[in-house]
Amino acid sequence: MDVSDFTFAASKPRTCPVCGSPRVADIVYGMPSPEMLDSPGYGERFVTGGCLVDDVSPAWRCRACETSIYPEHACRALEDLPPPF
Ligand SMILES: [Zn+2]
Repeated sequence: MDVSDFTFAASKPRTCPVCGSPRVADIVYGMPSPEMLDSPGYGERFVTGGCLVDDVSPAWRCRACETSIYPEHACRALEDLPPPF
């Protein structure tokens, strides 16, 4: 995964702030339920983000350009971290 592509949004954007695609998925953390995996929205309306949740984790991901979108309150926390590249 290319972690250099990310942006911020106050709430889930209807379209990707980077490429304009409407294919913005929720990232679901933790073990997905069987119902979730069987859902037609899996992989499109939402994706799994793994079991580990850091202090700063993206909440949404563009399915078109794979940009990670962080909630805006994560911005302050990111400033305390070294850049990811
Ligand atoms: Zn995009």
